[in-house]
Amino acid sequence: MLCLGIESTAHTFGVGVADDKGSILANEKDTYKPEKGWGIVPMEARRHHEEVSGAVLEKALESAGKELKEMDVIAFSQGPGLPPCLYAGLNFSKELSEKTGMPLMGVNHCVAHIEVGRLTTKLEDPVTLYVSGANTQTIAFVSGKYRIFGETQDIGIGNALDKFGREAKLEFPYGPKIEVFAKKGKWIDLPYTVKGMDLSFSGIISEAARKLEQKNTMEDICFSLQETTFAMLTEVVERALAHTGKSEALLTGGVAANKRLQEMLDIMCNERGGKFAVVPNEYSGDNGAMIAWTGVLAHKSGQKPLNLKDAQVLPRWRTDQTEISWL
Ligand code: AMP
Ligand code: MG
Repeated sequence: MLCLGIESTAHTFGVGVADDKGSILANEKDTYKPEKGWGIVPMEARRHHEEVSGAVLEKALESAGKELKEMDVIAFSQGPGLPPCLYAGLNFSKELSEKTGMPLMGVNHCVAHIEVGRLTTKLEDPVTLYVSGANTQTIAFVSGKYRIFGETQDIGIGNALDKFGREAKLEFPYGPKIEVFAKKGKWIDLPYTVKGMDLSFSGIISEAARKLEQKNTMEDICFSLQETTFAMLTEVVERALAHTGKSEALLTGGVAANKRLQEMLDIMCNERGGKFAVVPNEYSGDNGAMIAWTGVLAHKSGQKPLNLKDAQVLPRWRTDQTEISWL
């Protein structure tokens, strides 16, 4: 069985192909880049997705060495995400489904980040730290659902780093630039904001921007920004491990590419005698392959396809509201 997966929740328009053995046959994407100094402009991102969708699909089918008619199921990222971007994905997927008669599955984007992580790392039952542009959640599978043990109370860690990067006039994409500066920095104090299992990043970003105006070096601020926010993330993951009694930790989402965050989690897991793994870079940011694979899981376990007439986007669909019929 082959599933075509379509991702469009934010910057990235992606198309992937996965089979029911867990092989990823294709993972193609095209990413919208906002004008210098801007965050994502949702209507522009939608236009981007609509413009590139046909070409990305063709590239994905070509890398998979398959034709559209060889697919059995179509899955798309139904939410959460920016409504205009989600609509680009919904309309494109619906059209394909109408044209081919293939069933259309709606996939939760956050759950897809976890599932591609489990597939590629072979971790079975991890506590997941899902860190992306818009999302920051500590998640574990308990009593039939992916439960959120803690999350950001304001912005996601990726958007927080991006916000600092924009204010500091660094180049897009900001996360990797901050990581490079951080390698040569020393410690300066920034607010450390853990509230129970939840986190807050916006105050730290304001303070980091203020510290930059006060003539601290970019290196020192980037270093301290990473050390502070990543220590916060590591603290809540450790507490989730202790609370659930699980022994594996999975790092997934766009910020998972950060080597220092990987190192901190790895040290923490080692000290507990647990196992740590990170999703490979190719699948850490938003991508179509993770949607294809989660579509396979949902379809194989008997979830009903969407009714094309009333299929809608779900911009605020939460991880813990998602039916997990395959575990
Ligand atoms: P996603 O929303 O999952 O596609 O992830 C995108 C986010 O990942 C953006 O906010 C990027 O700044 C962030 N990101 C990508 N690479 C890195 C990195 N090496 N360090 C920190 N953040 C990163
Ligand atoms: Mg994402």
